[in-house]
Amino acid sequence: MEIPEQQWAQVIETPRRGVVYKQIPVQQPGPDEVLVNIKYSGVCHTDLHALTGDWPLEEKSPLVGGHEGAGIVVAKGDQVTRVGVGDHVGVKWLNGSCLACEFCCQSDEPLCPEALLSGYTVDGTFQQYCVAKAAHVSILPKEVPLDAIAPILCAGITVYKGLKESGARPGQIVAIVGAGGGLGCLAQQYAKAMGLRVIAIDGGDEKKEMCLKLGAETYIDFLRSENIVHDVQGATTDGLGPHAVLLVAASEAPFQQAASYVRPRGSIVMIGMPAHAYLKASIFNTVVRMVSIKGSYVGNRQDGNEAIDFFMRGLIQAPFKVVPLSELGKVYELMGQGKIAGRYVVKIPD
Ligand code: NAD
Ligand code: ZN
Ligand code: ZN
Repeated sequence: MEIPEQQWAQVIETPRRGVVYKQIPVQQPGPDEVLVNIKYSGVCHTDLHALTGDWPLEEKSPLVGGHEGAGIVVAKGDQVTRVGVGDHVGVKWLNGSCLACEFCCQSDEPLCPEALLSGYTVDGTFQQYCVAKAAHVSILPKEVPLDAIAPILCAGITVYKGLKESGARPGQIVAIVGAGGGLGCLAQQYAKAMGLRVIAIDGGDEKKEMCLKLGAETYIDFLRSENIVHDVQGATTDGLGPHAVLLVAASEAPFQQAASYVRPRGSIVMIGMPAHAYLKASIFNTVVRMVSIKGSYVGNRQDGNEAIDFFMRGLIQAPFKVVPLSELGKVYELMGQGKIAGRYVVKIPD
């Protein structure tokens, strides 16, 4: 296959000024890297944070965003033996890490101080040809549809890891806050597949319908509820609240409420990263109710393999809509307005 010199990409040329659909040069892979012809890429709310530049983390500029990319390896560096040309792979948020620090050695590679982040500190998947470290791409079985697997590569892995971090056991109840969004809809599917019972929290009837279809036992509309704490606890049979809360919303308010409705001994897992936000919880209640509050950040390579395996076994069927890469700007607009139920996936031109 011939690799062109120029390619189509969506580029953030100046932070906060939107994306420009244009031709840019195709990069060459380094010795430990692969060049992936991206076919589909999911659009994560993190991409919107990169666009608006609202996180306290410096990004590359100009930048090609995107980190849920599924495609085919078209070239590789001399040192690469793990994957070959023609293999189907996924490019994730964690584009690369040093593989030698304390965190990499303990399979906590997202915590690597030298981690490279796709679509943030290095160019990502909103382009036809993307470079990624060979050690970190996820190998995808050839029968996997590249559009449906794309959202698994960040959203799926992240919520699967978050559910494991919550410590919730089969039969227990998890509240998913932001359940109608990209991470939330996948979280419901993984939770169900892991034997958990789901309370879905989000806003509006479109998301309600979707969540109930995905298997949530209860839907609580944060736009209509007059008392979220009362409603969430009331949705559990004994009124004591959910065993775990997975916070995947990109706004601060629900983070303040979780400690008031989680069950004693329960855990609150923060995954969403609303900009400039802080968490406030009563110390007294957190202590005497023995509540755990923690953060969870994407997943390691094995979490990725396991999340993909759930998908391969037909357990994960979250809704997604496909639009051409040229329409990425419109997806950002809808996402900013909280109007996306499920995930958008962009089709990269052939
Ligand atoms: P999304 O926009 O698709 O979904 C967010 C959902 O939250 C929307 O459906 C919105 O209606 C809902 N929401 C907003 N306010 C709410 C409230 N008060 N109560 C309940 N729901 C509310 O976004 P996404 O792609 O799912 O990402 C969500 C967040 O997770 C972002 O901040 C993103 O950066 C972050 N994220 C974190 C990780 C990680 O590793 N920790 C990985 C991926 C994404
Ligand atoms: Zn993401
Ligand atoms: Zn490292």
